Amino acid sequence: MDSFADLSEKSIVIILALAFLLAVAVLVLAFVAYLYKRQQRLLRRQEMIYRDIARRRRIKASDKAEVFERDNYTCQICGISRDLMDSYCEGLGDYLLLEADHIQSVAQGGSGDDIDNLQCLCWRCNRKKGGSKTNEEVMDMIDYGIDYLDTED
Ligand SMILES: [Zn+2]
Repeated sequence: MDSFADLSEKSIVIILALAFLLAVAVLVLAFVAYLYKRQQRLLRRQEMIYRDIARRRRIKASDKAEVFERDNYTCQICGISRDLMDSYCEGLGDYLLLEADHIQSVAQGGSGDDIDNLQCLCWRCNRKKGGSKTNEEVMDMIDYGIDYLDTED
């Protein structure tokens, strides 16, 4: 029964090889599952951070009104104001789109609800400022063709 012993020895080798492959497959799957879970956890944390920033970026209507009043409805970068537009044509100032802007953006750690971190900007300067530039950097970029600030002496 030499061939039988030979056959069973071969089967044992094949079974061992299959068991080894199965173990490797299980380990690989476990590792992939671990990576997937870790990725999901990171994504959830990232989403929580984004939500927190979005929540803190919101400006209360009362704060906005206070900032506009304090800054006299004047863009703190280019100097265009409701009064200036009204001086050209009564009522024109109502068409000036002013926005309350976080001086230091919330994403960069600026306070979300501190009036001192808010300023009045026209929509044009605010788009240019985005989330990372300073007023001075925007001033260097813009050329609207009118020196609004010079009209005040
Ligand atoms: Zn402006």
